[in-house]
Amino acid sequence: MTTAEMKAAACAAIDRNADKIIALGESIYREPELGYKEFKTSAKIKAALDEIGFEHQDGVAVTGIITPVKGRYHKVNLAIMGELDAVVAPSHPFADPVTGAAHSCGHFAQAASVIGVAYALKESGVMNELDGDITLMHVPAEEFVELAYRKELIEKGTVKLLGGKQEFIRLGVFDNVDMMIMQHTRTTEGDDPNPIKADAGGTGMGFIGKMIQYIGKESHAAAPSQGINALKAAQIGLAAIDANRETFQDKDTIRVHPIITKGGDLVNVVPADVRLETYVRGLSVDAVLDASAKVDRALQAGAYAMGAKCIITQLPGYIIPYESEELKDVVYDNLKYVFGEDRCKRNGGGGSTDASDVSVIMPVVHMNIGGAKGIGHSPDYVVTAPELAYLAAAKTLVCTAIDLLANGAEKALYVKSNFKAPMTKEEYLTKWCNLEKGKDF
Ligand SMILES: [Zn+2]
Repeated sequence: MTTAEMKAAACAAIDRNADKIIALGESIYREPELGYKEFKTSAKIKAALDEIGFEHQDGVAVTGIITPVKGRYHKVNLAIMGELDAVVAPSHPFADPVTGAAHSCGHFAQAASVIGVAYALKESGVMNELDGDITLMHVPAEEFVELAYRKELIEKGTVKLLGGKQEFIRLGVFDNVDMMIMQHTRTTEGDDPNPIKADAGGTGMGFIGKMIQYIGKESHAAAPSQGINALKAAQIGLAAIDANRETFQDKDTIRVHPIITKGGDLVNVVPADVRLETYVRGLSVDAVLDASAKVDRALQAGAYAMGAKCIITQLPGYIIPYESEELKDVVYDNLKYVFGEDRCKRNGGGGSTDASDVSVIMPVVHMNIGGAKGIGHSPDYVVTAPELAYLAAAKTLVCTAIDLLANGAEKALYVKSNFKAPMTKEEYLTKWCNLEKGKDF
């Protein structure tokens, strides 16, 4: 088969199974689940893979599913990823009445579009023609939410990292993977009657989260000399952060935005337990790490000044995305193939996502494909064009895969040989995630 014939056969298989792909997506949409709790969602994906006849590994990072599909040769392994989790938007029409979870970020469409890719790979016969393997991945917990619950999971040893892709990296899921592509559903509604429908993604900010506890010593508020005031320590810490702001450089767009979540226990007791949370955001890893170290130093200064204790829990947030221009070229070619040259663009927006964490160790494209209307993470977010959100998304993913892996996998090998990873997996885990190097990973 020529590449064109393979793409035509794959897209035809997606069209033949359109009803099933859309029904799966709609079913997930109506039963939203939050990160690391996507058990019903995971069961639906597994049932679809069973029907297709693809063997898969489940329970990866609690609810994740890995589906390896072998090509004719094994020169490259391409991951095609979709997410499983919802966000909290209790007034969304299909919000879970108990948890408030709602699919107002489009991850249900991602999950179903990867099943669309599975139908295409199974029924089109392209795997007998491709010179690389494809690993379909359904990943949990993209949204950085329910931090207290996820910290419980960490304390129980269920996971070690808060984001699903971060945990996939730690578990070694990507160890035999060379590159990854995925898509996120975006809004296409607007004033333009024929809007841009897709883009190949772009840069965004990264962040580190911190939970801070100041421990002082209680005493009667009328006898403060017998206590240690943890609130005063926190105030000095916050002032010391502010004093450091003039050292942050404009080009790095550092944002530090602490809040006090507990200021004391009783007004007539010297505060001995004060809690803060903050993010440290920025446009480069080094700048975020540099600012993060200054914030830690400032927070500790408050404790030192008062003779209190400061415990800082680092929560590795999502790293700054690193782009592979060569992989983006192949994705853009296939966006043009599916949507038409004037209905897509090469560079688009990129928010904070843990797909960025994968992008520092291998080539990644996190594209955006239309089909939704409303504001993301809000109650009015709905898919209005299923032929885009589910079907065109699946076609773009599979056609990109065909382009990469056809003809001796020459395009994938070109992408791989031109990619200089900013970090190794070990550097990512130790430098960014603050995990001690050891037998855990
Ligand atoms: Zn999202």
